[in-house]
Amino acid sequence: MKRAYNFNAGPAALPLEALLEAREELTDYRGIGMSVLEISHRSKEFEAINDETQALIKELLSIPDGYKVLFLQGGASLQFAMVPMNLLGDGRTAVYVDTGSWAQKAIKEAKLFGDVTVAASSKETNYDRIPDLANLSLPSNAAYVHITSNETIGGIQYPAFPDTGDVPLVADMSSDIMSRPFDVSKFGLIYAGAQKNLGPSGVTVVILREDLLERMPKNIPTMLRYDIHAENNSLYNTPPVFSVYLMGLVLKRVKAMGGLAAVEEVNRAKAALLYDAIGQSGGFYRGVAEPGSRSVMNVTWRMASEELEKAFLKEAGANGFVGLKGHRSVGGLRASIYNAVPREAVQALADFMNDFARRNG
Ligand code: PMP
Repeated sequence: MKRAYNFNAGPAALPLEALLEAREELTDYRGIGMSVLEISHRSKEFEAINDETQALIKELLSIPDGYKVLFLQGGASLQFAMVPMNLLGDGRTAVYVDTGSWAQKAIKEAKLFGDVTVAASSKETNYDRIPDLANLSLPSNAAYVHITSNETIGGIQYPAFPDTGDVPLVADMSSDIMSRPFDVSKFGLIYAGAQKNLGPSGVTVVILREDLLERMPKNIPTMLRYDIHAENNSLYNTPPVFSVYLMGLVLKRVKAMGGLAAVEEVNRAKAALLYDAIGQSGGFYRGVAEPGSRSVMNVTWRMASEELEKAFLKEAGANGFVGLKGHRSVGGLRASIYNAVPREAVQALADFMNDFARRNG
């Protein structure tokens, strides 16, 4: 079987074992004579998949009691709107940290629903870092503080999370959830589109502290209410059954790898291979992110000219490397090295980068 060196930003590489297991079960799920795609979401088989996948997320992230795990649709982009619709409330302000493209999309959407305060931004340094939040001062009427734990396009990631006291911390973790352990109890709400570390697109995971459910308005569309999805165990309407099922298969691999501490170690080693290639190139490759804010998931860099970047991409493509073009909004190069990207693929890319620099530097 030929598998590409896949550095796509999302949808992205999935663990081969999970794909093979899905293939194996595709036409006959565990002897029922039907595919997971062909059975009711109210069947005992699907209810078990739904419950087991939730339980795996709780176990892997060590989620304490008092939190709900929801499987929703509409991507992380719909969460940009659902968060303020459900949590902002009259007379309050929604606090955002502006770290680049995805934070800005969240801010834009929140402004449709009420007052927004941008408490910190790294715009001045062209989003090359996570702003220092040690002295973050919050307005007394803050409804929540929203951060983007990893900026997929810019390639910057929070090395540690801010302390927001009694004000709920909300995080878009779309591109780094399940890549490292962290303390869920610091958060009021976490959301993530699945299509990077969790599984295929089509399902969005929301982790929500239960006390927040009490303050949610009842006059918003039913499908956009967290309390409705929580009360119905994410089965209010027909869920994306195959996405939830495949996410479960992916999470079983994460567990088999030894959980998030083991996953983080591998991820850090993979990222170091590429940051070393950049750092040791004598300026031939220029990392976009400041060292203290470098993403372990999305490594971004520039080269001396767009022509040289084009030549790099062309040659990389001919050598089997896929998905290295930077996001269309910023250009440059980006290697997304999520959990399922094998270390060998990253090593091969580092070798290619070193070789290309030698020949063209
Ligand atoms: N937030 C981040 C950090 C992302 O990387 C993305 C997608 N790349 C989104 C939000 C939007 O997610 P979706 O396409 O699932 O709406």
